[in-house]
Amino acid sequence: MLMEKERIEIVEYGKKMSSAGLCKGTSGNISIYDPETGYMAISPSGIGYFETEPEDVVVMKLDGTIVEGNRAPSSEHGLHSVIYLNKPEARAVVHTHSIYCTTFAALNQPLKAVHYVIGGAGVSEIPCAPYCTFGTPELAESVKNTIGDSKAVLLQNHGLVASGPKLAKAFSLAVNLEFVAEIQYRALCIGQPCVLSDEQMAEVMVRFKSYGQPAKNNEKKDGMGY
Ligand SMILES: [Zn+2]
Repeated sequence: MLMEKERIEIVEYGKKMSSAGLCKGTSGNISIYDPETGYMAISPSGIGYFETEPEDVVVMKLDGTIVEGNRAPSSEHGLHSVIYLNKPEARAVVHTHSIYCTTFAALNQPLKAVHYVIGGAGVSEIPCAPYCTFGTPELAESVKNTIGDSKAVLLQNHGLVASGPKLAKAFSLAVNLEFVAEIQYRALCIGQPCVLSDEQMAEVMVRFKSYGQPAKNNEKKDGMGY
């Protein structure tokens, strides 16, 4: 089975994503990209996270050609591909319809630096990509035109896409951005939140680079743990 390790990881993280409350039903999807082969392993369309087996995960090329798999890939495979094509460092993508991120996406408003963990995205504001129908090349194009230097982007009236150098990082970014969105929402309920300045966020980014456990020999430190 091609990309067996990655397919097992996608199944494992699908369950985590569901258990963490980041998606309802079969919404959301996960992928891992291998730049050496040019193959992407992506969760299948319309199968519950607790029913998905590694062989249900589809291996495909970024142009949409299926390489191995008996299932239809996630309808958002183009959305995942556009991130790998435009972010050379991205190796995993997590797409969710998490409640608080999607609330701001429904308002077409960005996530702001109301909490420093937003810096895990490498920016101090998560932009919102203009609305396009789900599963279309237009939606992928909208993300491409909006994401900029960010590792994540909101999708207007839809949800969130987060990327990372490995699946654990993309997943933890999606969790942290849902936290930021909830804080932004709650703060707006009772007042006007203070937003950290660019200077304050620049200091956060510096600290992220050195925070956490020392990197293992073969592991590049990417400063996203905190
Ligand atoms: Zn979606």
